[in-house]
Amino acid sequence: MLIQKIIFPALLFVLAYGLNAQQKDIKLPPEATEVWEPQPRIVTSGKTMNTPPSDAIVLFDGKNTDAWSKLNGDAIEWTIEGDALVVKPGSGDIMTRRKFSDFQLHIEFRTPAVVDGEGQGRGNSGVFLQRRYEVQVLDNYENKTYSNGQAGSLYKQTPPLVNASRQPGTWQTYDIIYTAPVFNKDGLKTRSAYVTVLHNGVIVQHHTEIKGTTEYIGWPKNIAHGPDGIQLQDHGNLTAFKNIWIREM
Ligand code: MG
Repeated sequence: MLIQKIIFPALLFVLAYGLNAQQKDIKLPPEATEVWEPQPRIVTSGKTMNTPPSDAIVLFDGKNTDAWSKLNGDAIEWTIEGDALVVKPGSGDIMTRRKFSDFQLHIEFRTPAVVDGEGQGRGNSGVFLQRRYEVQVLDNYENKTYSNGQAGSLYKQTPPLVNASRQPGTWQTYDIIYTAPVFNKDGLKTRSAYVTVLHNGVIVQHHTEIKGTTEYIGWPKNIAHGPDGIQLQDHGNLTAFKNIWIREM
């Protein structure tokens, strides 16, 4: 009798209350999980995917080479042809005068239409992030080379996920998202740099850990450094660049 009249209903009540409490959580108003402040800053996108957004720092738009210097600080010798900046073989790498840490970089490149050479000898150049970490530029259209030296590779470290190369003589794009490494006061690396690369809009590096400096021979090194420039490689080929812009993060 006691069980039927008091304990059983009490148990039912407790069970029902518990269920109801769970349902209350589920029935939160949608506004409860909306985040309104702060709002992301408005940036006007370019007219096409390739033109710089409103807050970009334009590094080259065909007008002048003011943003660039030789590695010793002198004016560069690479030539402007139309809206393109063309490597002058033998004149050396160039770098931005401005230094960067974390950024989004857009750069377009064109390897020579007339193919001569093979492997690493075809349209070779490179985009060095913070002047140390090379995203390889190469004519890899029907041109076999080591996978971790291909266009879109993190040179000698990580091959691209796919080969998104266009034919030689046609313009191609890199969109590079980069976060700089962190070093402690003793000069030890406490966080690696990471890079994401889209080649012609196709992801080829997905949050790839950068193990250290790009070395042609030997292993990556990790020597403490601060913000540094974007460096473009003179590898002896007439590779051209255009429409270069960067957004600091
Ligand atoms: Mg290179």
